[in-house]
Amino acid sequence: MNKEIIIKLLSEIKYPGFSRDIISFGILKNIHISENEVVLELSANTDNNQIIESIIKNINEKFNNLNSNFNLKIDFQANKEANPSGDIDKPLSNIKNIIAVASGKGGVGKSTVSINLAASLSRDWKVGILDLDIYGPSLPMIAGSFEQPQLTEDQKLIPIKKFNMELMSFGFINNDNNATIWRGPMVARLTQQFFNDVVWGDLDYLIIDLPPGTGDIQLTLVQKLQLTGAVIVTTPQDLSLLDAKKAADMFSKVNTKILGIIENMSDFSCPNCDHVTKIFPGEGVVDESNRLNIPILGKISIIPELAKSMDNGSPYIIDNPDSYLSKKYQEISNQINTIVNKG
Ligand code: ADP
Repeated sequence: MNKEIIIKLLSEIKYPGFSRDIISFGILKNIHISENEVVLELSANTDNNQIIESIIKNINEKFNNLNSNFNLKIDFQANKEANPSGDIDKPLSNIKNIIAVASGKGGVGKSTVSINLAASLSRDWKVGILDLDIYGPSLPMIAGSFEQPQLTEDQKLIPIKKFNMELMSFGFINNDNNATIWRGPMVARLTQQFFNDVVWGDLDYLIIDLPPGTGDIQLTLVQKLQLTGAVIVTTPQDLSLLDAKKAADMFSKVNTKILGIIENMSDFSCPNCDHVTKIFPGEGVVDESNRLNIPILGKISIIPELAKSMDNGSPYIIDNPDSYLSKKYQEISNQINTIVNKG
């Protein structure tokens, strides 16, 4: 008997209601193997006894199938507090709303939406933006800030202050690309630790730019962070929408409220002749919005100057406060503010 056998066995068991296994859910805390006994220490943020009992039953069944001479003892710590983020060191009581901006796919405009949404909200509210994309942090570039954050006496990170917002990104502390070789569980742990290690001021909104995708990293983060809700960004194309659906399902399963969908790159209006062209095929965002019974917060056109602003390090809507896009984002911000305050 050894730990590898046990881990392999546990990785064949799905977390109830999910297609993901209990190892990737991070519920295994420790394995002790003595002469004739295996003790598993498990912990999950759930108060649902059915889930706990089902996991224990499945583990016992699998273990019995091994026909070993070892006894199995399962020590299951159910984290029954209402706060689902059991591993966060201290509740972020100074932040009123934490909103994740997510996409199933990379390249659909998640970071563009995050910074412009944050900038829009910052007209009326105190706002921070946290770029949790460890593989491709883009905030330093799009906010034109490459300075290293200062540390507090107890080695916590002080956010960079720019554009009347508080900013933090992996890119501020790690400007080479080492992260790309890190593996999933390590990334999830590191991301969570990073989240804990930032001292934010009093904020009305913290906008989190999540890494793209719906893998273990995203799932762990969504489980651990105390999200008020999530905004999903997609292009109209079925290919992007398919992954947006996965993201929506991920949030639903962990009971995170989806505040709405933003359709990005909906169309392109020619600056010379004003002819509007739809670049991507598909109308699926409406279907998805109906399926989930969540609003489409806005549809955003392809705007070349918006892409340029991302390279220039200054959010478009800050530089163009009276533009079509600024008004669009103002409408999106107002809707989010209303939904969040309705509870
Ligand atoms: P993601 O965070 O989803 O990977 P980005 O926000 O980095 O995507 O956007 C991908 C690329 O598309 C960037 O070059 C960005 O400037 C550009 N982009 C995003 N949204 C728009 C838009 N509405 N109009 C023009 N360019 C856009």
